[in-house]
Amino acid sequence: MATPDLVLKIDVDTHRGLGDGMPRLLDCLARRRVAASVYVSMGPDNSGKAIWRVFTRRGFAKKMLRSNALRLYGLRTALYGTLLPAPEIARSFPEVLRRAVGEGHELGIHGNDHVYWHDRAVGLSEPEVAREIDAALGAFRDILGDTPPGFAAPGWQCGKASLAVLDRGPFAYHSSTRGVRPYRPRIAAFTARLPEIPTTLPTVDELLGQGIGAEQAIDLYLAEIGTRPLDVLTVHAEVEGGPYAEFFATLLDRLAERVRFRRLVDVARGLEVGSLPVCEVVQEALPGRAGTVSCQGL
Ligand SMILES: [Zn+2]
Repeated sequence: MATPDLVLKIDVDTHRGLGDGMPRLLDCLARRRVAASVYVSMGPDNSGKAIWRVFTRRGFAKKMLRSNALRLYGLRTALYGTLLPAPEIARSFPEVLRRAVGEGHELGIHGNDHVYWHDRAVGLSEPEVAREIDAALGAFRDILGDTPPGFAAPGWQCGKASLAVLDRGPFAYHSSTRGVRPYRPRIAAFTARLPEIPTTLPTVDELLGQGIGAEQAIDLYLAEIGTRPLDVLTVHAEVEGGPYAEFFATLLDRLAERVRFRRLVDVARGLEVGSLPVCEVVQEALPGRAGTVSCQGL
């Protein structure tokens, strides 16, 4: 079999993730000459709102212990948007965004307000979605003087309105669901024009959430990657650029000989959109993750 393609999709959800985690990830990728696709939540960091809400849910203590959320996100992040004001993410670190582009990575947007989108995207109206996308595009243009080719939905949440609004934007593709191969998504009888290139692999926090250790997680990735022509692995600036930096470096070293690293924008350019399958998007629960995410229906 030919060398399989692997896309590293890096999501940046928080102020700390962009300011602290992303430079560490960029160093790690530069040492190995690997180019990734990076998606940044461009607007305010309201993480504290999500964290406080989760506090009131059953099973929170267990999830907190398993995923060690405070270690991943830090105390300040846990208070943003509640006791502390929500800091702007992209506008606080324009030099990190410019550095990512300068080093050959693709830069796209991961919504505007991650918490708002994550909690409400499935039911948002088109004007509500458009406000979020316009705000994110405005920040992107101000910093980079350009528009991004790709959009990745926060929390893998998409609804009919988000597909419709993204179709009208400057994008060439989106990567907003979990699935197995590129497709054209359909929700409530609306079929998107843009191709969707889904994340195909579980995230490390999902594996850890199932009680799988870091060593075993690397073995699982190595066994899975290469079983299909294209894999997309989503990593987080707050996780693999934080406490799991060493894990990520080891994983990259083990993968280097086995895969060809590609960026999503380059994969998207090679797609024949007209011949992609149309698949329904369904909300499903995934092992190791709270709530449901948008998945490619098969
Ligand atoms: Zn995210």
